[in-house]
Amino acid sequence: MDQVDCVVIGAGVVGLAVARALALHGREVMVLEAAAAIGTGTSSRNSEVIHAGIYYAPGSLKARLCVAGKRMLYDYCVERGIGHRRCGKLLVATAPEQLPQLQGIVARAVANGVHDLERLSAAQARAMEPALSCEAALYSPSTGIVDSHALMLALQGDVENAAGMVVVNAPVQQARCTPSAIEVTTQDGTRLLAKTVVNAAGLQAPALASRFQGLDPRHVPRAYFAKGNYFTLAGRAPFSRLIYPVPQAAGLGVHLTLDLGGQAKFGPDVEWVASADDLTVDAARGDAFYAEVRKYWPALQDGALLAGYAGIRPKIHAPDEAACDFMIQGPTEHGVPGLVNLFGIESPGLTSALAIGEMVAELLERR
Ligand SMILES: Cc1cc2nc3c(=O)[nH]c(=O)nc-3n(C[C@H](O)[C@H](O)[C@H](O)COP(=O)(O)OP(=O)(O)OC[C@H]3O[C@@H](n4cnc5c(N)ncnc54)[C@H](O)[C@@H]3O)c2cc1C
Repeated sequence: MDQVDCVVIGAGVVGLAVARALALHGREVMVLEAAAAIGTGTSSRNSEVIHAGIYYAPGSLKARLCVAGKRMLYDYCVERGIGHRRCGKLLVATAPEQLPQLQGIVARAVANGVHDLERLSAAQARAMEPALSCEAALYSPSTGIVDSHALMLALQGDVENAAGMVVVNAPVQQARCTPSAIEVTTQDGTRLLAKTVVNAAGLQAPALASRFQGLDPRHVPRAYFAKGNYFTLAGRAPFSRLIYPVPQAAGLGVHLTLDLGGQAKFGPDVEWVASADDLTVDAARGDAFYAEVRKYWPALQDGALLAGYAGIRPKIHAPDEAACDFMIQGPTEHGVPGLVNLFGIESPGLTSALAIGEMVAELLERR
């Protein structure tokens, strides 16, 4: 049986960032990806926003890794020439009763180490974005957008330059954990003996972990799937910055984001689904978007929204339960030497990827 130091399962942005960090820490790394190419999962079905880190509970992994990851990501994009734009975002209160929420967001941002939010009156916000309607806004200058595929290609390049390997068409079927090593079996029956294994299988991470012999099932959370549908705007974008309403229950509200080509899209909404493969966008859901978007952009014309794409949030809590933090589970948590499971890596996972990579590499170094 072939032996390898580290196996990372999943070549999404998080798996690749973990593999890069491990390789830069001098580890021998092999990434096993089920699909025929890297980054075809949630990592290519998101808003591509570099989040500032303002919403998350202070001290949580989401807060810490987003703020650290944002800095690392901007530096990495500059260093590697990855397309990105620090375009900024306006977070808008569209009704008087939302004004106290803006206050709370500023306090939370400061607690998370984000000190650059600017309070804007309605007139100041409109001076920046004339098409906008709001009662007041916050401006986040450190929010931006990134070309997520270029980012993943750069991460893959770093892994390979450090003598690591990324193997596609290699779905991991199961693993057997022993005190000295973890035996990984792929669907075609290939077996590999690894000192460490990182489960970065995204939506499939809990299902995969439940097939790890020697891992107590108590440590595997139940997976839930919350689809986010996007609708693209036919015609020119009316804004040059991202526009977000104040956050709502399971997501950040129907916001407007831009891609690097200037194309505007609205979403994602929240639709709890039974399957991780349910990626169709029901055009009828667009009807609800009009009302939400017109709260901050009253000039939106009927018929201007076209069904776009969808991504699925890898949730580890039920629809009626409180939102969860990222779950980064190492030997201290589950007792299996050399195993790290990454569960519930939803937004801001793209922003946090480089910081998650560093955290996992350090966690495994402490072995
Ligand atoms: C609608 C939506 C919008 C979002 N917007 C943002 C945003 O603007 N900013 C932000 O920071 N974050 C955002 N996120 C979150 C971000 O996209 C994710 O956190 C991130 O992409 C997760 O990356 P990943 O590598 O963990 O998962 P994935 O990209 O899903 O990668 C997992 C990989 O594992 C592979 N795999 C699965 N099972 C196996 C197996 N058995 N063997 C081998 N390989 C396997 C899959 O094929 C896949 O390639 C958003 C998420 C969603 C759903």
